[in-house]
Amino acid sequence: MDYNALADLLLPEINKTPDYYENLYPARNLPEGARVTRIAPSPTGYLHLGVLFAALVNRITATSTDGIFFTRIEDTDKKREVAGGIEDIISGLHRFGITIDEGFISGTEQKGEYGPYQQSHREEIYKTYVKELIRQGLAYPCFCTAEELAEVREIQEAQKIRTGYHGEWAKHRNITLEETEALLSEGKPFVIRLKSPGNEANKIVFEDTIKGKIEMPENDEDFVLLKSDGIPTYHFAHAVDDHLMHTTHVLRGDEWISSVPKHIQLFKLLGFKVPKYGHISPIMKLDGGAKRKISKRKDPEAAVHFFAEQGYMSEAVINYLMTVASSDFEDWRRANPDTSYKEFKFNLKKMSVSGALFDENKLLDVSKTMVAKLNSVEVYNMLTDWAKEYDEEFFGILTADPEYTKSVLAIDRDVPKPRKDI
Ligand code: GLU
Repeated sequence: MDYNALADLLLPEINKTPDYYENLYPARNLPEGARVTRIAPSPTGYLHLGVLFAALVNRITATSTDGIFFTRIEDTDKKREVAGGIEDIISGLHRFGITIDEGFISGTEQKGEYGPYQQSHREEIYKTYVKELIRQGLAYPCFCTAEELAEVREIQEAQKIRTGYHGEWAKHRNITLEETEALLSEGKPFVIRLKSPGNEANKIVFEDTIKGKIEMPENDEDFVLLKSDGIPTYHFAHAVDDHLMHTTHVLRGDEWISSVPKHIQLFKLLGFKVPKYGHISPIMKLDGGAKRKISKRKDPEAAVHFFAEQGYMSEAVINYLMTVASSDFEDWRRANPDTSYKEFKFNLKKMSVSGALFDENKLLDVSKTMVAKLNSVEVYNMLTDWAKEYDEEFFGILTADPEYTKSVLAIDRDVPKPRKDI
């Protein structure tokens, strides 16, 4: 089989090779041990508590090693995208004091040498790497229709065989050049799949920086790399982007854990160094006595706007999230009541492996302690800012006579043991 001819037939418009990008995005010049982390949110709605939490964990991991924290927008699913989604996420991070070194720094601006930081603008890069895999005989076109795939799945289910496009079920795995030419001339749409050399009977072992040692079967599925519209799947974009952006630690939600065998396999086949992975457990909630993930649909606190509306200081929310992130943060806080959380020596190993409970009473407590430390002018400014946005009538009352309001807010404040009930 002439794989070069197949590669040219499928992606004739691509004339660069991976070398071009390897030279364009050289290794970062950072001190030994510096960690490069990122969040890669999809702009599908408001800033979600889980994304803020992941951003915090990634930010402090980078900060504590003099590394880099960047943002990348995963907008390959245009159907789910909402207008203003990028702006909402980035401005939300700013509001919570999460600084961004690189990537998207506002809804429209990007900074840094490793961009573009938006997947919809990286199509040529992905195709260049896919073309290389085709040339090496490690990827191939699949012309199966959705109906054909559904039929195969039914047969597999009936025969109690693991479902998916693997082994003998991978119909186009050995497609010839002539067959490909014929199907292309009929105008048939196709995806590009990985020709997985993996074997389900083999195990892969990796050390998750949060959850510890994990063992899973090797991936043998010929999963999709490029969809029929030329857009990459998450798996493929993750490998290419985190390689070219030199991410050292991929700290992301633990719903991705089951995909790690695919990801490690891709990094290796592409000749990339595998990054360290750390899978963050979701923040949980008690619902009728049972623990469950905070849900975008059911829980108002899933959207971080909720905390602003309720009048929580951003700093209190972040300090509370630090108690969720690290089991030893509270002790440190007691010993260092006036130090910024950024000084805390964060260790990924101290994160909960099963999912910590969201505890609004504790948030309230952290918040009260912080508000009690403010002087009356600070409280006045914050309170009026809040009221201006959320309670116009109250805003009018507070600002009718500012000096009087400040004197009220000064009661039992600016004293050794300020009251905590405001
Ligand atoms: N877009 C993915 C998500 O939101 C990113 C996961 C990752 O950080 O790699 O789940």
